[in-house]
Amino acid sequence: MKPLQFGDITVERLVELEGPGFHPAFFLPDSTPEDIELERDWLLPHFLDQESGRMIQSVHSYVVRTGQHTILVDTCIGNEKDRPSTPPWNMLQTPWLDDLGAMGLAPEDIDFVMCTHLHVDHVGWNTRLVDGRWVPTFPNAKYLFHKQEYEYWAAHGDDMGGTGSSAGSSDGCFEDSVLPVMEAGQAVLVHGDHAIDDNLWLDPTPGHSPGHVCLNLSAAGQRAVFSGDLLHHAVQVARPEWNSRFCWDGEMSRDTRRKFVADHADRDSLILAAHFPTPVVGRIVDNGERCRFAPRDD
Ligand SMILES: [Zn+2]
Repeated sequence: MKPLQFGDITVERLVELEGPGFHPAFFLPDSTPEDIELERDWLLPHFLDQESGRMIQSVHSYVVRTGQHTILVDTCIGNEKDRPSTPPWNMLQTPWLDDLGAMGLAPEDIDFVMCTHLHVDHVGWNTRLVDGRWVPTFPNAKYLFHKQEYEYWAAHGDDMGGTGSSAGSSDGCFEDSVLPVMEAGQAVLVHGDHAIDDNLWLDPTPGHSPGHVCLNLSAAGQRAVFSGDLLHHAVQVARPEWNSRFCWDGEMSRDTRRKFVADHADRDSLILAAHFPTPVVGRIVDNGERCRFAPRDD
């Protein structure tokens, strides 16, 4: 993704992992191979791996520079974290922090960290291991957590919700990636409609997790939405009724997704999801029967 410009505001993507990931039958338990086939023409080549049929997925952060603040949106999986429930994420070693440096940013330069929700792949780089202790990676940052989301995980620990085989574990990410931030006095618990400044504000979008939020950007007559995991995969634009297997409340998640797709269809809003692969950014287009995601290739 080329840097996006919204007046004085620049948005860049910082990738941790990208490639074929889960199979739709596993990740989207409501889907059927026949339904996926109906969307195949626009899912290829970006969103579906032709050979394996697996979804192409990414784990990335966004870096937003406003001229006044530098904001990191979602912090991926992180290095050296014990994540036995998801073997490809276990004890990861990636150059994510060096890549941030290549953008001209030292950890000290980050003013705000904003997590759309507190799942394991959105909080990882909140902390890093120093002398055997997890400490905040960004010493000068305020970390914005939605109060409702924080309180849920503080009370429920590792139980991600979902039902039966959908239930997942967060492998202690609250303890190693959220609590140390709180203990360092750098966490700010905010309401679901919190505004960072005149151009950036949160919107409560619960369902995937109890306090999931989107971050809206409006500047220079343009709109963008950092939509977190409200949509995991582009096919959910066509089928907003399909939950991921890691959605906390199925009905709430469907309702929130349907409303989001309807609100943004055929609008100028650029959608910046947390796991859409290259070219990442695009718009929701209503083609009559079902919406689709139209990536911007530039
Ligand atoms: Zn995620």
